Amino acid sequence: MTDNLAHFIDGSLVDGTSGRFADVFNPATGEVQAKVPLASREEIDSAVASAKAAQPAWAATNPQKRARVMMNFVALLHQNMDILAEALSSEHGKTIPDAKGDVIRGLEVAEFCIGAPHLLKGEYTEGAGPGIDMYSMRQPLGVVAGITPFNFPAMIPMWKFCPAIAAGNAFILKPSERDPSVPLMLAELMQQAGLPNGILQVVNGDKEAVDAILEHEDIQAIGFVGSTPIAQYIYSKGCEHGKRVQCFGGAKNHMIIMPDADMDQAVDALVGAGYGAAGERCMAISVAVPVGQETADRLIEKLAPRVEALKIGPFTAGDDVDFGPVVTAEAKTRVLGLVERGVEEGAKLVVDGRDFKMQGYEDGFFVGACLFDNVTKDMDIYKTEIFGPVLSTVRAETYEEALSYAMDHEYGNGTAIFTRDGDTARDFANRINIGMVGINVPIPVPLAYHTFGGWKKSGFGDLNQHGPDAFRFYTRTKTVTSRWPSGIKEGADFSIPTMG
Ligand code: NAD
Repeated sequence: MTDNLAHFIDGSLVDGTSGRFADVFNPATGEVQAKVPLASREEIDSAVASAKAAQPAWAATNPQKRARVMMNFVALLHQNMDILAEALSSEHGKTIPDAKGDVIRGLEVAEFCIGAPHLLKGEYTEGAGPGIDMYSMRQPLGVVAGITPFNFPAMIPMWKFCPAIAAGNAFILKPSERDPSVPLMLAELMQQAGLPNGILQVVNGDKEAVDAILEHEDIQAIGFVGSTPIAQYIYSKGCEHGKRVQCFGGAKNHMIIMPDADMDQAVDALVGAGYGAAGERCMAISVAVPVGQETADRLIEKLAPRVEALKIGPFTAGDDVDFGPVVTAEAKTRVLGLVERGVEEGAKLVVDGRDFKMQGYEDGFFVGACLFDNVTKDMDIYKTEIFGPVLSTVRAETYEEALSYAMDHEYGNGTAIFTRDGDTARDFANRINIGMVGINVPIPVPLAYHTFGGWKKSGFGDLNQHGPDAFRFYTRTKTVTSRWPSGIKEGADFSIPTMG
């Protein structure tokens, strides 16, 4: 017996009317546990119409009142943490502690948005000229949208809708069709927190819904997170339709291990950052770059037994599990295919998880941890984002060679260096062409009051996610020049005014 999920439109859960549905799996068992409706253009139109009607009154609500909704929402997230985490794990497959982390990293952005009154303050210049004052204000865009990936079904929707709504916009969320329950629950909690009907809509769907959003003339801006090919598609099509667009894409994050690094610390970092959430994180470390053959040998010697000992299991198995299944059967087939490809290409598979079977969960989408050594730049497993529990080791002779691997890769989301040498760390942070950098920190996800964003093929468009950039992205600046007393007479001036 499977449940039919819904959309959340105009303050209520509503059934889908397109007649099209997608299966939502429990990745641990492989069973279909729900069907999610896939919205038609008409359903997108109805959500946008409701958002458009509700938005002016919300924009006119003073920012402190909007901030109070965020405050209530944060409290409700805490109260509902266990329910949210269980729903999230059952559709995504990640462990319960990791699912709570997913909710908390979103909640922290909601907390940041309580500061909306301060963040939306404009600028003022008194006496810019004779009797002239000048001020600028930040105004909401109107109706804006977010299209989000499966791997953080709580965090990334909140990164999008919290700042947009706190800034006075109405928001259309199109979450991943693979794990849609938590986004629906978040919308219900926002409603309970005091959000008026129509300000947050959740419309489930696939390409049809996304295209309807991209082409809708009443949607002013789109924030996307997902894989790079789709990010590029959404960026170009959204811009073509005159929208403000920011898209965050895939990744291949390198961690450089210098000869002077604390090797135990580096190994701890690599197992957590490489295999946590089955490697399905855009900030996962997927490439280890030890510098010098001796460093590489020491690394593999310590790392291989740790990777072999990783505990894999369903989220219901409790806190003892390190990571769960990947999200779908297709994801499993894809990851195993890439591991096979790596072997064919001549990389050394030091830990081979290809035959892993989870006892009692044989139909689940589990993939055993894999560790490659002697991976080279020309191999597909190096070039491609694998998005599974697979770590590749690329050996570099020098720091400059290690740096060039990270610099030359097409992705530029995150990176890290492990060293005890301040000069090297500083040089790395300074020269690297990647958006988020860790120094002895493997997953340098910036906190809510800083901003998150990759470079190169990991990010398209202007401004980052959350932090002050989110308020810049979801608002536009209006600048007013006024002259009082109005009676000052200077005669007509036919040249451009200057402050001469
Ligand atoms: P995805 O690109 O398959 O899907 C993302 C969204 O796009 C979903 O809502 C999906 O429904 C929609 N979509 C999928 N195919 C589409 C199409 N043909 N046309 C229009 N819309 C389409 O990504 P995913 O598998 O859900 O997520 C994993 C990817 O996201 C990885 O590449 C990961 O690195 C990336 N990611 C990036 C960040 C970041 O901040 N850079 C964060 C998390 C995940």
